[in-house]
Amino acid sequence: MFDIQYILFVMIPGLIISGGASLLVKAAFNRYSTVTSRRGYTGAQAAARLLDVAGIGDVQIVPTHGYLTDHYNPQTKQLALSEEVYASNSLAAIGVACHEAGHAMQHATNYAPLGLRSAIVPAAGIGSSIGYMVMAVGLFVHPFVVGIGAVIFSAVLLFQLVTLPVEFDATARAKRLVVEAGIVDEDECYGIDRTLNAAALTYVAAVITTLLTLLYFLVRSGLLGGRDD
Ligand SMILES: [Zn+2]
Repeated sequence: MFDIQYILFVMIPGLIISGGASLLVKAAFNRYSTVTSRRGYTGAQAAARLLDVAGIGDVQIVPTHGYLTDHYNPQTKQLALSEEVYASNSLAAIGVACHEAGHAMQHATNYAPLGLRSAIVPAAGIGSSIGYMVMAVGLFVHPFVVGIGAVIFSAVLLFQLVTLPVEFDATARAKRLVVEAGIVDEDECYGIDRTLNAAALTYVAAVITTLLTLLYFLVRSGLLGGRDD
């Protein structure tokens, strides 16, 4: 079903970009997981302290299974921290926990991109399954069908683009408050910065791989740049 151009221009670059980003996150997280913070705050304590400073009292901090599965759920107002973050007093754990607290702050302050992101979730789900299928089938049917598939698939790109300001802002809030809240000292910020900057790369990588996929189908169908076969 997939030709050599798909493998060369979409699959291999996609694997290198997303695989590379995920390797960098793991490397940064593992590295700063071994650097303990001076004041000894654990991830859970750091998140609790940050929420407290931000005046948020209705968010529950809970442990969750898995590696780097940390997330904030706006529906349940639960801030879920993976076991390695929840009870660890490393700079990496504090960074991740404070980033998630940043999402809770976004929710509490009605940060618009967060609401927009949640609203796009269903469309993005349809885009990645049905949109992709319609584009792929369209290559054998008619460029017009590829175009329809591309429009549906674009919801994925939109979702990933809106995710960027949400993620960058959560990290910015964490960095801004973590010293102010007395969780770490100024000179410990490097470990938090490097962990969170690496995590931000994965969201950029997702945008690039989705763009490659979209471009492939548009070019291959002749909708973009004219047919070459
Ligand atoms: Zn995040």
